[in-house]
This record gives sequence, C-alpha cells and structure tokens, in this order.
Amino acid sequence: MPGKAWLPPNNTSMIPLIFATHNAHKAAEIQQLVPSSIKIITLAEAGMLEDIPEPYPTLQENAATKATTIFSRTQSNCFGEDSGLLVAALDNQPGVLSARYAGDHKSTADNNALLLRNMEGIGNRAAKFVTVIALHWQGQLHFFTGECTGTIGLAPKGEQGFGYDPLFTPDGSTKTFAEMDSKEKAVYSHRAKATQQLIAFLHQYSTTHA
Ligand code: IMP
Repeated sequence: MPGKAWLPPNNTSMIPLIFATHNAHKAAEIQQLVPSSIKIITLAEAGMLEDIPEPYPTLQENAATKATTIFSRTQSNCFGEDSGLLVAALDNQPGVLSARYAGDHKSTADNNALLLRNMEGIGNRAAKFVTVIALHWQGQLHFFTGECTGTIGLAPKGEQGFGYDPLFTPDGSTKTFAEMDSKEKAVYSHRAKATQQLIAFLHQYSTTHA
C-alpha cells in the first residue's frame, strides 16, 4: 500500500527535497546539513515504497534515473545517489555491480571473497570508490561526484563500516575503512565528498534566493 505523501505546511516557503533512499538515518543526517528552508523527504514519506531499478552501466546514469523517475512521479525537487568500487586491474569492476558482485543475494561476505579471489596474484591493487549524486532542482539536473582513491588489501582488516570497507585502505591512511569510525572515514569518503558538494550547492541557492 502506498505511504501518505508528505505535504509542506500551509503558508511556508519550505522547499521539499526528496532523497531517493529508504534509509531514514541517511535522510536525517543530510537534514542537519542543508539550509533550514529545505525539508528532506524519504521515498516512503513521498509515498514511493518500491525500489527504483539501477540497470545502467554507469553510476551517473543510475543516479540520474533515480532522480528523473522520482521527478516524473512527483514533480518535486529530488536527488538520487549511486556508489561503487572501481578496481583498476579488474577493468574498473565491480563498479555499478558492487552490491551484487557475487550475485543478487547481495552478500557482503561473498562479494569480498570474490574480489579477493579475482585479485589473486595481481600486484596492482589500486582502486577507487566513487559516489555520484544526481539532483533534480528547479527543473534542472545537476551532478556531484566524490572519489576516494586507495588500495585493495590481501585480506580483510577491521570490523566497522559495511561493504568492501575491510579490504579498502584510502590513500593517505594506513587503516582500512573498517578500522575507522564514521567520523574518520568521512575525512576520506567518496560519499562525504559528493554530499558536501550537494550541500554547498543548496546553501549557495538559498543565499542567492533568500
Ligand atoms: P550504494 O549505491 O551506496 O548503495 O553502494 C553500492 C555498493 O557499493 C554497496 O552495496 C557496497 O557494496 C559498495 N560501497 C559503496 N560505498 C561503500 C563504502 O563506503 N564502503 C564499502 N562499500 C561501499
């Protein structure tokens, strides 16, 4: 059953901005950082309970599709993001398939094991995480990209984080992402860098349209 769509309170100049996520925690984090005139709304709050497919070969196309799909259904400002791990020696795989590298069951343990197997005997361990955010804002599409370069380890290290974190050491650190708390990870993180650009854009807009 569809959820009840969020509506701005009457007589306010609040600008709704739908975030293509089902993760209320992610949405709350961004709400703290955007101008107070912007109200972040999750997909559920916007009445969209289904997942939006990510069938394309690039992170940019998948992020853009999320934003344009939501816009076509709601006519509201919105943004979607897509992230992945690109490994140089594997021709930038797993890339858009990062969540489903070892299959549609999306097992982190299987994905990490497969990555280590596919890199057996490979000396070039260079990789990067990339996040692309596509923002549909006042009728126009804007992109923000964050990258974090680093290396893939020979074995998992650390317990924190998610996904490929135990295998990835960002350049400039000796720890894997899984050995960092979220604050330390944010210093390097692809997602943090893309999000900072989005937030700077929204602050710039709200300053010039105050
Ligand atoms: P999403 O687009 O943010 O859902 O990311 C897709 C997939 O990329 C995740 O399921 C992870 O496998 C991988 N990934 C993205 N960002 C990270 C990260 O910061 N650490 C570890 N894995 C990540």
